[in-house]
Amino acid sequence: MALGYTPVDDDLYREIILDHYRNPRHHQAVDPADRVIEANNPLCGDEIDLSYRLDNGTVAAIGFMGRGCSISQASASMLCEAVTGMSVEGATSLAERFRAMLTGDGATPPDGDDIGDLEALRGVRAYPVRVKCATLVWNALLEGLAATPASPAPATRIEK
Ligand code: ZN
Repeated sequence: MALGYTPVDDDLYREIILDHYRNPRHHQAVDPADRVIEANNPLCGDEIDLSYRLDNGTVAAIGFMGRGCSISQASASMLCEAVTGMSVEGATSLAERFRAMLTGDGATPPDGDDIGDLEALRGVRAYPVRVKCATLVWNALLEGLAATPASPAPATRIEK
């Protein structure tokens, strides 16, 4: 399968994916980072290093490096754009809903569950070998956030 092949039938959605692939958002390592998660999808050759920094329970900065197919890179770009500024709980919830959209039993999200441009990746459902490409970075995020206290105690500062 050619690198960059985008297996989505809908033209609008394909455009959104290709736009993120060609002009990735947050395509840089966060430094300093609280966590760096390396994710690899050997089936397709996708490699992503996801890094982020939390501030007071929210995702203050997040970015990714790596290379791979259009789906994996666009998904990483969309992830970073979507979760910047979100709480750890919100980002975890979004990642779980995104993963359910692609790997669930086909149930559509309830009305009002707007996941924005991420909807563009729903079409990947029809291509099981590509689902791993789309979920790779989201699994990395969940892995990272699962190791993060959901509500860190506020930093205490003792003045003397
Ligand atoms: Zn891929």
